[in-house]
Amino acid sequence: MRLVLLGPPGAGKGTQATQIGRAYDVPVISTGDIFRANVKNGTALGEEAKSFMDRGALVPDDIVIRMVEDRLAQDDCGHGFLLDGFPRTVPQAEALDEILSKQGCPLDVVLRFDVAVDEVVNRVVNRRVCANCGAVYHLQYAPPAVDGVCDACGGPLIQRDDDTEQVVRARMDEYRAKTEKLERYYVERGLLRDVEAVGAVEDVARRTLEALREFERPRDGEGS
Ligand code: ADP
Ligand code: AMP
Repeated sequence: MRLVLLGPPGAGKGTQATQIGRAYDVPVISTGDIFRANVKNGTALGEEAKSFMDRGALVPDDIVIRMVEDRLAQDDCGHGFLLDGFPRTVPQAEALDEILSKQGCPLDVVLRFDVAVDEVVNRVVNRRVCANCGAVYHLQYAPPAVDGVCDACGGPLIQRDDDTEQVVRARMDEYRAKTEKLERYYVERGLLRDVEAVGAVEDVARRTLEALREFERPRDGEGS
């Protein structure tokens, strides 16, 4: 399965990505997570990306494209991958097509998660993430069992620097200005499928897996 998840910040891409990655046994590649790991580790890439991330702007295409090309060249992407947060601009989508056509493995499908703006702002400002393992919570919809503590690993829950209401509005503006254009790009290529992303996480997961069923292929060595 070679899959892209599209949708505004807070649409639930990361939440569903974990489940899809597990169901199809493919790596989840989140460009936002890669940037945050680089910021945390104080790398040159992290330093470069941080100034854009802090104000809700997109990191320049050339930086992101190089990073994704390196990541897709790794062995674990041999059976497919799930991209969360990439591509976000038409040049990024074109670059992805080029990388995949060199490998002779085009995308199977692009899923777009559909949610109203007010709902995504609420989701983002109430999002908390584990500083240790990255698990995602929501203060109302998906709270941890113990306040401020990750259920999975006991790590501390924090708010992302860019999850304030002001930065979220800027990220939404970037989405409308640059990423929404990708919808047409993928409709024209017959790859876009919509998933209604409102409702309980399990219901969205069920709809997502249903949408993917038509794109399932046997893995190498399976089936005929
Ligand atoms: P994205 O990766 O698209 O930015 P996340 O998966 O991190 O979004 O989800 C954003 C926030 O919304 C998180 O706090 C998450 O717990 C919450 N969330 C995700 N899916 C749902 C849902 N179906 N209903 C309510 N809250 C959700
Ligand atoms: P996310 O975790 O997907 O919400 O991304 C957080 C931030 O990382 C974004 O607001 C951007 O600053 C940066 N970022 C992540 N992915 C990309 C991308 N594909 N292109 C440009 N910037 C990105």
